[in-house]
Amino acid sequence: MPQDAKPQDTPHNAVLINGRAYPVTDHAYDVLVVGAGGSGLRAVVGCSEAGLRTACISKVFPTRSHTVAAQGGIAAALGNMGPDDWRWHMYDTVKGSDWLGDQDAIEYLCRNAPEAVYELEHWGVPFSRTDDGKILQRAFGGMTMDFGKGPAKRTCAAADRTGHAMLHTMYGQALKQSAEFFIEYFAIDLIMDDEGRCRGVVALNMADGTIHRFRAHQTILATGGYGRAYFSCTSAHICTGDGNAMVLRAGLPLQDMEFVQFHPTGVYGAGVLITEGARGEGGYLRNSEGEKFMERYAPSAKDLASRDVVSRAITIEIREGRGHGPDKDYMHLHLDHLDEDMLAERLPGITDLARIFGGVDVRKEPIPIIPTCHYNMGGIPTNMHGEVIAPRGDDKDAIVPGLMALGEAACVSVHGANRLGSNSLIDLVVFGRAAAMRCAEVVGKGTAIPELPKGLGEAAIERLDRLRYADGSTPTADLRLAMQKTMQRDCSVFRTEEVLKEGVKGIKQVWDDAADLKVTDRSLVWNTDLIETLEFDNLIAQAAVTVQGALARQESRGAHAREDFPKRDDADWMKHTLSYADYGTHLVKLDFRPVHTYTLSNEVAYIEPKERVY
Ligand SMILES: Cc1cc2nc3c(=O)[nH]c(=O)nc-3n(C[C@H](O)[C@H](O)[C@H](O)COP(=O)(O)OP(=O)(O)OC[C@H]3O[C@@H](n4cnc5c(N)ncnc54)[C@H](O)[C@@H]3O)c2cc1C
Repeated sequence: MPQDAKPQDTPHNAVLINGRAYPVTDHAYDVLVVGAGGSGLRAVVGCSEAGLRTACISKVFPTRSHTVAAQGGIAAALGNMGPDDWRWHMYDTVKGSDWLGDQDAIEYLCRNAPEAVYELEHWGVPFSRTDDGKILQRAFGGMTMDFGKGPAKRTCAAADRTGHAMLHTMYGQALKQSAEFFIEYFAIDLIMDDEGRCRGVVALNMADGTIHRFRAHQTILATGGYGRAYFSCTSAHICTGDGNAMVLRAGLPLQDMEFVQFHPTGVYGAGVLITEGARGEGGYLRNSEGEKFMERYAPSAKDLASRDVVSRAITIEIREGRGHGPDKDYMHLHLDHLDEDMLAERLPGITDLARIFGGVDVRKEPIPIIPTCHYNMGGIPTNMHGEVIAPRGDDKDAIVPGLMALGEAACVSVHGANRLGSNSLIDLVVFGRAAAMRCAEVVGKGTAIPELPKGLGEAAIERLDRLRYADGSTPTADLRLAMQKTMQRDCSVFRTEEVLKEGVKGIKQVWDDAADLKVTDRSLVWNTDLIETLEFDNLIAQAAVTVQGALARQESRGAHAREDFPKRDDADWMKHTLSYADYGTHLVKLDFRPVHTYTLSNEVAYIEPKERVY
């Protein structure tokens, strides 16, 4: 690493907040990446390769980011298992997005996907192989050949550990570069100056309680999704959408937050995914009256109806009081009638997961399950270079200087109203690379990183101090549970005006109740009570914009299915929702911006909206 690439640290400038001294260390980098999942690491590698002084901060060790849990694979039209074309991939992605995706960005994604996968291969991702040594590809829902004429094998995988393989490989690549990692640092808030430029972030070193001000030419938020706003989600405990909330607190909007993807069978309480394969092998669902209720909802496909249909049926059964358990809030998935040898041979993983997370022996008893939040299509609006956008005057696509976003935290928008399986992992690397290329263009190598004006960033320390000394009587865990149960009940797969209004009221109530928050541990060293409180404070604002957006959108599109507005309404609703949250009043304001109805090149024409696909 060249001498001049070293950060200039200025240790221990204490800031006084409410009479308490917080030692602050300043750091300066060309690019600061917050998040070390697939998208963050791809950007780190690209920026370092371009010779930019790059830092990456992560609240967990990089290889513990949620990307590690991705199993199924990563989509790219390589054509290894039969004919394929990036245009077909583009068509499927537009259709999957239910015409809410921006087609210029979707073209960019699908066109650049093969190169991004080959790059991963060259870096050392151990992809599964065909007999003749090519990258193996498998079929995935919604991926088709020749514009919808039959299934395509497009999803590349490293066994059922694709995310694991990618993350470890990319972390290795990042270490090869001169990038500096700040691990187990918790980013509290963005540093925004008076001109609306992002200047960096304020972070807490969780191990020693010191505060760090990172300033940079470009700050990239790659902080992942916010599945933990729901009671049941497949994502890790760290998926609290911290970057999204920082954007809201900076007075900037989030986009399309009402679009949340659900999977019908997550283990009750833990959320761990039970694959569709369990029903494929003959498993079935039963309510507390002993009824195989899917026969009523989908007489021919029954338990193997599509994900959204099964999810909605389960939710209706629970709402109508036919759930199991003391709160009647879960369903039973039966595998206990199936042959034991078959279970051991074909569903060994599920057998283990049900034992560990559901406490049941699938050979003898049913698995408690509920529809589970799986992916957030909404997030921080960006263009396809990763630059964050926020309307300014008439310019609906105005760039927020100095700020970028990637991965599940971002909304480019390539997934629109619904993401196709295996399209997230490819989004991480294609746009991670695009963002790094943009940084290389706009950041002058070796240029000075201006000092921060005095006092900038102190608001973040004040927020930390306020939550640290919160002295009410309601523990964070109680508020979090109330929020999660409200979101699960009133803003999941079953959506009507009545239910969503209850949700808006319920979430506002929880947010108001947070005035009575109690944090017990006042220390700054490994204070999980405090970290969970910061995370709750992040989640509640996202819950508020999600449920408000869902109430406003009077149509059904992609994952947003309204019982009272069952049709997609292109005339009024083919537009992105922008939502702003007010941390003072706890109210949400909505705005809209048009969907890009054009492509990137002339090689492929704009794909006109068609009948809704489910
Ligand atoms: C169980 C499961 C299976 C999946 N399977 C697939 C699949 O097969 N194919 C597919 O395409 N997609 C899949 N997905 C979706 C996909 O894995 C995720 O969308 C994607 O990995 C998210 O990557 P990311 O880079 O955005 O963030 P993440 O991997 O979630 O990483 C977020 C990073 O941000 C950091 N961070 C967050 N907040 C802070 C903070 N305040 N301060 C500092 N650091 C912070 C974290 O430490 C972490 O490093 C799956 C998701 C799940 C949950």
